[in-house]
Amino acid sequence: MPEKITIVEMSPRDGLQNEKSPISTANKIALVDQLSDCGFTRIEVSSFVSPKRIPQLADAIDVMSGITRNHSVSYAVLTPNLRGFQTAIKVKADEVAIFTSASEGFCRENINCSIDESLVRFAPVLNAARALNIPVRGYVSCVTDCPYDGPTQPSQVADVSAKLIELGCFEVSLGDTLGVGMPDAVAEMLSAVTARVSPSLLAGHFHDTNNNALNNIRVSLEAGLKVFDSSAGGLGGCPYAPGAKGNVATEQVVEFLHSEGYATGIDVGRLNSAAQFAKSLRSAS
Ligand SMILES: [Zn+2]
Repeated sequence: MPEKITIVEMSPRDGLQNEKSPISTANKIALVDQLSDCGFTRIEVSSFVSPKRIPQLADAIDVMSGITRNHSVSYAVLTPNLRGFQTAIKVKADEVAIFTSASEGFCRENINCSIDESLVRFAPVLNAARALNIPVRGYVSCVTDCPYDGPTQPSQVADVSAKLIELGCFEVSLGDTLGVGMPDAVAEMLSAVTARVSPSLLAGHFHDTNNNALNNIRVSLEAGLKVFDSSAGGLGGCPYAPGAKGNVATEQVVEFLHSEGYATGIDVGRLNSAAQFAKSLRSAS
């Protein structure tokens, strides 16, 4: 049996959040519904961050309420605080995510506090989630490079990742937010992180600014990671990481993994249609 790799599909959230022109709620729902038929087991649908910060995702409640659920899929949303978490529960999110950074500069710019403060801020979300048995994913941004602070120390990534697991996250997604991490730097970072956190609790989240995302996935597989984030059509970017390209395209990741002999459970034909639709949303804006 080929080894199974899990893809967490990001296009509805990480993909769309950086699009300048508003995308209709109906189109967002249509995207999630198409993705739900591709064989993904996890889709990140939206985010309950302030609409002032990310106006594109201001319709998170309507999107979550409007999608047609596939019972094989876990639908996730970002929840920056307890209020966001409570809304996520009302719209029946299966999984929530919190986010911090391995670099102080990005943390301050993105969520306006220090890394330590961000962990304190998320404690109520983790406590509430534990009481309801809702899995919480932790994102760590800027795992190799930060647009404000330059290169990130691997020990810093290891430290933040270990703290997120201690706080109760079931998984930590390691984000090369800028997409400039070279495979050597990713390997060095992973060696520091996996010394503190089992690779079975880690995911790789690579943007593709320098076309290194697939090579970074390769070194992550070598380090034992089995979960990767990607975005159909390569949509995305980050409003707080100027110049960063989208998440690595899911269709590229799936093709790469299949050619390397891994199983993903993804139907390539359906994925390609969904990716076309995702791209049409971008070019329409
Ligand atoms: Zn991202």
